[in-house]
Amino acid sequence: MTNVLVVGGGPAGLSAALFTQKNGLETTVFDTDGTWMHKAHLFNYPGIGSQDGSAYMETLRTQVDSFGVEHLQQEVTDVAATDDGFTVTTEEGDHEGSYLVLATGADRDLADALGCAFDGDLVEVDLSMETSVDDAYATGAMVRAEEWQAIISAGDGAAAALNILSKEKGEHYHDFDVPADAAATFGPEE
Ligand SMILES: Cc1cc2nc3c(=O)[nH]c(=O)nc-3n(C[C@H](O)[C@H](O)[C@H](O)COP(=O)(O)OP(=O)(O)OC[C@H]3O[C@@H](n4cnc5c(N)ncnc54)[C@H](O)[C@@H]3O)c2cc1C
Repeated sequence: MTNVLVVGGGPAGLSAALFTQKNGLETTVFDTDGTWMHKAHLFNYPGIGSQDGSAYMETLRTQVDSFGVEHLQQEVTDVAATDDGFTVTTEEGDHEGSYLVLATGADRDLADALGCAFDGDLVEVDLSMETSVDDAYATGAMVRAEEWQAIISAGDGAAAALNILSKEKGEHYHDFDVPADAAATFGPEE
């Protein structure tokens, strides 16, 4: 059973997956690669000077995959709560997981199918992006009316992931690295 099921592989979903997998939770991302980032050119993502949106996604995918995230190019057609987590359904079959992160852009159908509470058209979430369904999170464009920015989606995904990690570790969790961690992970700087 996967620890974390992420539906959507845009900035929100991949950010969530990066944090959970990097910190030891087995994570699967389902994606149909329809991210709006393919239409964007970033000038407003702090730390990224000027970059084509698809190029940014390529870098992000490589970063996430390097930590061992399972990345499935499959459309999720249904999600349901079970006694101990969630089932995600694709044409290829069902997948079980303890936590669910929805990151499907402005498409809110899966949150609706799961029975999440809505505030008008928007999925209702708390500051950690958790929905009214325990252990199910909604992130990015689906929880906002118009404030659609890549950095906000990435932040939402990180907030969801840290909340999941805090639940798993039993205390408030932060993912701080120092230069020695980078050297241990990537080797010494040349
Ligand atoms: C023309 C244009 C220009 C933009 N320019 C900028 C800009 O300059 N700066 C900026 O910050 N933002 C920009 N944006 C907005 C930015 O692209 C979005 O804010 C960002 O992509 C939202 O990220 P997200 O992860 O919430 O959703 P998305 O990036 O939309 O990702 C959602 C992903 O989920 C997948 N998905 C959906 N449903 C399913 C399903 N059922 N099963 C599996 N996968 C599914 C989709 O295929 C997609 O890959 C622009 C958007 C557009 C349209």
